[in-house]
Amino acid sequence: MNIAPVTADDAFAESVDPSVSCSSCDAVCCRLTVVVMPEDRIPRHLTTDTAQGLEVMARDEEGWCVAVDHARMCCSIYEQRPAICRKFAMGSPYCRDERATYREQMLRGIPLVLRDE
Ligand code: SF4
Ligand code: SF4
Repeated sequence: MNIAPVTADDAFAESVDPSVSCSSCDAVCCRLTVVVMPEDRIPRHLTTDTAQGLEVMARDEEGWCVAVDHARMCCSIYEQRPAICRKFAMGSPYCRDERATYREQMLRGIPLVLRDE
């Protein structure tokens, strides 16, 4: 009997919860610090520099990336979003952690503030 070896892709696929959807989420991953890489082509007015000299996506006072289109709850620069955003997988453990943290904040009435500063 042939048994295919378990690959990193298989392991990742198994860690993804397919019931999670961005369409029923408040874009909570867009409240994390997003480092802009040199290859990224992001309009400069949407970014800022940290004290450590990193270029990051600018955020509003509640911590959301300024590229979030709140009316449509989506990324307004989706086609040119930073590489780090492209790698953030819907339903992954990291995604689910962020959703759980946000849900807890909302339930407990904890004000939204900048994260990961
Ligand atoms: S990737 Fe996850 S945290 Fe980000 S918007 Fe989609 S469901 Fe929400
Ligand atoms: S660039 Fe787009 S996908 Fe990335 S954090 Fe900002 S709104 Fe979210």
